[in-house]
Amino acid sequence: MTAHQFSALFVFALCASVLLQLWLAQRHANHVRRHRQAVPTEFAESITLASHQRAADYTAAKVKFGMIVTVFEAIVLAGFTLGGGIEWLMRLADGWFGPGILSGVAMIALLGVANAVLSLPFSWHSTFGIEARFGFNQTTPRLFLADLAKSALLAAVLGLPLVAGVLWLMSRMGDAWWLWVWAAWVAFTFVMMWIFPTWIAPLFNKFEPLPDEALRLRIEGLLARCGFKAAGIFMMDGSKRSSHGNAYFTGFGKTKRIVFFDTLLKQLNGDEIEAVLAHELGHFKRRHIMQRMVWTFALMLGLLWLLAQLMHEPWFYQGLGVQSANTATALTLFFLVLPVFTFLFGPLGSWLSRKHEYEADAFAAGETRAADLIAALVKLYRDNAATLTPDPLHSVFYDSHPPAALRIAALKRLA
Ligand SMILES: [Zn+2]
Repeated sequence: MTAHQFSALFVFALCASVLLQLWLAQRHANHVRRHRQAVPTEFAESITLASHQRAADYTAAKVKFGMIVTVFEAIVLAGFTLGGGIEWLMRLADGWFGPGILSGVAMIALLGVANAVLSLPFSWHSTFGIEARFGFNQTTPRLFLADLAKSALLAAVLGLPLVAGVLWLMSRMGDAWWLWVWAAWVAFTFVMMWIFPTWIAPLFNKFEPLPDEALRLRIEGLLARCGFKAAGIFMMDGSKRSSHGNAYFTGFGKTKRIVFFDTLLKQLNGDEIEAVLAHELGHFKRRHIMQRMVWTFALMLGLLWLLAQLMHEPWFYQGLGVQSANTATALTLFFLVLPVFTFLFGPLGSWLSRKHEYEADAFAAGETRAADLIAALVKLYRDNAATLTPDPLHSVFYDSHPPAALRIAALKRLA
C-alpha cells in the first residue's frame, strides 16, 4: 500500500461512517417524531401522553445535538491526522525534550488537553442546555468545573505513567513488545478495577451504607438466595449531578460492592428495587461480566499485534499526515483512527449486549417477580424520558438494551 492509497481509504471510511451515523440519527429522530402523538397501547395505562411526548422531545434534542457532535469530531480527527495536528504536536514536544519517551508522553498529553478543550463546549451544552431544559440536570457550573479538574488530575496521575510504561516497552522489548504491553495493560485494568470503588469513585461522590434497614435485609436475603457475596451495599448521592437513576456493581472478587443511586431508591419501591438488583445479579450469575472481560482482553491482544505490524510501514504514518514515525505517533494514530475502521462491527457488540439483557431479565424473573421488574422498568422509562418507540435500525446498531416494547413483552412471557 502507498501513503496516498491509505489516505484515500481513510478519507473514504471516515466519510462513510459519518454519513451512516447521520443517516441512522435522522431515521431515529423521524421515527420518534412520527410516534409522538400516541402512547404505544401496551404502555397506555402506565405512561401519560405528556410523559411520552416529553420523552420524544428529549430524544429528538439529544439526537440532533449528537449529529452536530459527530460532524465536529470527524473534522477534529481529520485535523489531527491529515491536517497535520499530531505532526505539529510531536515536533513541538521533540523541540522541548528531544526525541524519546519523554517527548512521546508530552505529545500524547498535549493531544489529550487539546481534545478536552475542544469537547468542553459540547459537554457544557449537553449538561446545562439539554439536560437542564428537560429538568434532569442538578450540576452547578462550580461542580462541573471541579469534576473536570479532578478528572484531568486523575488522568495525569494514572494515565501518564501508563503511557510512559507502554512507550518504554514498545521501544525496549523488541518484536514481541505487543505481548508485554498487553500484559501491562491487563494488569493496569485489574488494578483500576480494584482501586476504583475505594479510591476513585469517592473523589466524585459520597457513599454511605444503605440507610433503609428493611430494604438492606431484603437485599441480603436475595444475595444469600443467589449465593452472591458482596463487600457492602451502598447508597450514592447521584442526585447532586442528575436526576437520572441507576444501580451498579463495582470492584471484583471479594471486594464487589453494590451501589444504588439515591435517585433510584426514591423512584422505586422495595419489590422493584429487589427486581432491578436481581437483574444486575443475573449479569454476574450468567457470567456476562467475565465473558465481556475475556473478549476485551482477546481483542486488545489482536489489536496490539496489528499495531506491531503497522508501525513498521511508512505508509501508515504518511497516509495519516505524520512524518515523525515513532512509537508515540504509531500508538496515537492507531487508537485515534481505529473506530473509523471498526464502526461497522458496532452492531455485533450491541447485539451481544441485548442478548445479555434478556438473559439477565430472565434470571431476575426467576429469582424475584417479572411483574416487579416490568413495573420498575416502566417507571425508569418514564422518569428518564427514555423513548418507547426507537427506530428499529438505529436500535440494532447502537442499543445496548432491547427496545422497551420487546423487553417488556419478553418479561410478560416469563410472568
Ligand atoms: Zn442489564
